Amino acid sequence: MTETAKLGAREQSHADVVRWTCPHGLHAGQGCVACYRASTEADPALPLWEVAVWFTSTRPMPIRALKDVRRHGCSFSLDQPSTPLVYLLSGQARAATGTEAVAGLVGFLIDNRHIANTFTVTEVRAVHS
Ligand SMILES: [Zn+2]
Repeated sequence: MTETAKLGAREQSHADVVRWTCPHGLHAGQGCVACYRASTEADPALPLWEVAVWFTSTRPMPIRALKDVRRHGCSFSLDQPSTPLVYLLSGQARAATGTEAVAGLVGFLIDNRHIANTFTVTEVRAVHS
């Protein structure tokens, strides 16, 4: 099962907004620190999601920050595809739904402001593995 959403390009439909809202009432694309914390101690019985989050940053991220992600988020990685100021954060997360998995991954960025302090999520994907 794959769930994807392109954000920001135009208004999302009400149904999409509801679908991408985590149990804490936050939109997955905006991130949720509570979902991130929950995913770090998630029940191993919960499904494992392969999550990808594309985001733009207003300023370039130092290489050191890219490496930092590997150290902090056990199974996360931050890459820079060819487009300047566009980044891809990917990783595995355990959560009941793809929405929570995405909210948690973006929540990791929020919880680690030193990595990316101003960012805008443009697209998210969660694949049930
Ligand atoms: Zn949440």
